[in-house]
Formats: sequence, structure tokens, C-alpha cells
Amino acid sequence: MELYYQKEIETASPEQIREWQNERFLNTLGHVWENNKYYKKKMLEKGVIPEDIHSIDDMWKLPYLTKDDLREAYPYGLMSAPLSDCVRIQSTSGTTGKRVVAFYTKEDIDLWEDCCARAIVAAGGTKEDVVQVCYGYGLFTGGNGLHGGSHKVGCLTLPMSSGNTERQLQFMVDLESTILCCTPSYAAYLAESIHEKGIRNDIKLKAGIFGAEAWTEEMRKDIESRLGIKAYDIYGLTELSGPGVAFECCEQTGMHINEDHFIVETIDPETGKVLPEGEKGELVFTSITKRAFPLLRYRTKDIAVLKREKCSCGRTFVKMSKPMGRSDDMLIIKGVNVFPSQIETVLLNQGLTSNYQIVVDRVGTTDSIEINVEMTPELFSDTINTIEIRERQITEAMKSMLGIYAKVSIVEPKSIIRSEGKAVRVIDKRKLYG
Ligand SMILES: [Zn+2]
Repeated sequence: MELYYQKEIETASPEQIREWQNERFLNTLGHVWENNKYYKKKMLEKGVIPEDIHSIDDMWKLPYLTKDDLREAYPYGLMSAPLSDCVRIQSTSGTTGKRVVAFYTKEDIDLWEDCCARAIVAAGGTKEDVVQVCYGYGLFTGGNGLHGGSHKVGCLTLPMSSGNTERQLQFMVDLESTILCCTPSYAAYLAESIHEKGIRNDIKLKAGIFGAEAWTEEMRKDIESRLGIKAYDIYGLTELSGPGVAFECCEQTGMHINEDHFIVETIDPETGKVLPEGEKGELVFTSITKRAFPLLRYRTKDIAVLKREKCSCGRTFVKMSKPMGRSDDMLIIKGVNVFPSQIETVLLNQGLTSNYQIVVDRVGTTDSIEINVEMTPELFSDTINTIEIRERQITEAMKSMLGIYAKVSIVEPKSIIRSEGKAVRVIDKRKLYG
């Protein structure tokens, strides 16, 4: 079995990686300065010109880019190549405001697909595999990215896109899919459907590559045991190309960042100060090989930790932890920071499923939080009394994790709407009152 897609790059020495980064970063900076008026203006406002930047050690002098910049510059403001050189756009879902559109040259797509191919090979993929891609195709990067990577590895690629679970399962069985690519919440839903249909023994899956939303270690274990697979994490953002910015290897202890294409920093999300590697903070990425839409110092809002140590897989790229949550997803309830991932951890540790919903509300000036979670088949046959006892136990566990009281209700099976893409975990009614 091949261990790497691009061995010389993925196992390069730290000195070699730094040399690539320096050269590519300075090239990209020059390219952006020449061709991107929006970022040039930001640099001038900060009083910095390319002559002030001699190596990646001077990166901190450059201004950050945020999603607001991307919205403000919509659609062409942050392009660094002529439109005639571009061959594709991809776009974010735009659920929290105006869409962000990213442009790609042919070469940009080629490099992006290389990154996805690395992820597939790291998950054990070879040309013998059948890869079922049930990320959405179209503007969303998930489908197209993994699809391109799968082609590069030479796998038989099933471009299923999201939804239509019946058809997904039929192809999974008939064409003997071995690698599944989708959101973790959809993987959990597929696992549930497979068990209901009693077709677990007809499934040939060995691995899954799951990303595009936050998920916990507990959810990983749950999916792995229900599908009998290894579940690998993948990370990316449309703004940076799409999935494949970072990917997990056989160790499953964090995702290797493709450092030949991206430079990563961690910063304090409040002050913007750069933190030493290894401290928890917001991830900031600089793309150093893209031509059409290279972003310098893009703030992701994802909170994570970087770890640079020898990995048993032989790869030398730095690893990032699973994002502990987006600073966007963080709820402030009664002044306490709460991440949905903490709630999920408690529920799964308590033997419940990942079918849950968090409802936040405000009565007068007091915040309230309620967690509805579906009962498992085992609980379904229990008496009301037993269920109430379970609710109290989970409420206690929740209180010790979150530090605040959250009402936990165990609800009927299938009463929480399933998602075929990103799950809707939080309903924050407080927003209705502005
Ligand atoms: Zn590794």
C-alpha cells in the first residue's frame, strides 16, 4: 500500500520546508502587491511595503484579512490574476451573510487536488479503492475537492453529491464503496440508516474522510464502531481553496497542514497578537502557491493548537488539533463561553447519540439553554421514571462540563431533523430580539 501521495514533499526536512516557504511567500507577496489593489491598500494603511519583508520572520508586519474583507471586496476585489486566467469559482454557503467567492486558475485547482489526494492516500486510499463522495457538488468545495483528489489517486470515484440516502446506500452496496467522504453528521445518519435496514454486513467501507463541520473524538469513535471503519478528519476553507488544507494520517492525532502550500500562525483572537507555536489560539493561514486568489494572513476564527513533533507516519508537516470550535460558534450564556462540541462530548460519553439540538433563549435578562437529545433504542423501552433519572444524570454531567445549568430533555427517536450537509446544532432565539 502506498503511504504517501507525494513522498518527497510530505516527508521533507524542516529546513527544506522552510526554504520552500520563504521563497514562495516572498513570491506571493510580490505578486499580490503588484496585482491586488485591495491588499496593497491595506498594507499601505499599516505602513508596510514589500521592502520591509525579508523572510517569513517578518510576516507579522503584514495586515490580517478577515471574512469581512472578503465580503467587502466581493466579487473581484481580492483577485490577484486576470479573470481570463481563471477557470473556476467556488463559494461559501453564505449562511451568515453575503457569500464569499474564490477564484481558481488551472494550476490552483491542480495544487488543491494534490492536497486532497494526499488526504485520500493518508486514509489508505489506492487505485483499487471506490470513493463515494457525498459532499455537495457545485459551489460548495467539498464535492469537487475530494472528487479531484480521488481522480488523482486513481480511485473509482462515485460523484454522489449530498442527499438521497436511499440511492447512497444502494450504490454503497452494489458498487462496494470502500472510502466514504461526507460531513460527520451525515456519516452518522448513514450509519443509522444502515443499521435500520440491516445491511451492515453488505457494506465494504474501510475508511471515511469527514470534514466541513466540527466533530468530537467521541463522535469519531461512535461512527467508527457503527460502520466498522477508520474515520479521518480533513480541514479546509473555501477561502483557502477548500478541503485538504490539512488532513489526518494513520495516527489520528491531529491533521498535518500542507506546509508547502500554506503557512500557519496562531494568534490571540482578542488582541491579534501572534502566539508561540503550541499555544491554543485562532488559526491564521497564508497561501503561498495560489495565483488567482492568494490570501495573506487570513483569520479563520477556528480555535486550535499546533503540534510540531515527529509523527509515526513519517510526515514532517506540523499538525493542528481538531478545531475546538469556531469563535463564531461559541455561545456566551450567562457570561460563560460554551462550545457545542463540549455538549456533544458529554452526550456521547453518556451513551447518547449525536442527534441533538441546543436551544438558547432569554427570558427578561436571563439566558437559558436547553439541550434536546434523542433517546437511543435501549432507552425507548424504559419507563418514564427511568428516563427522568437519565435526564438528571446528564444534566449533572453537563453542569460539570459547562459550569452552568442546562436543561437536558430526552426526546423521541427521529424527532430532531436530520441533515444531509452541515447539521443545525444551535437555535439561538436571543438573536430574534436583536
Ligand atoms: Zn502523521
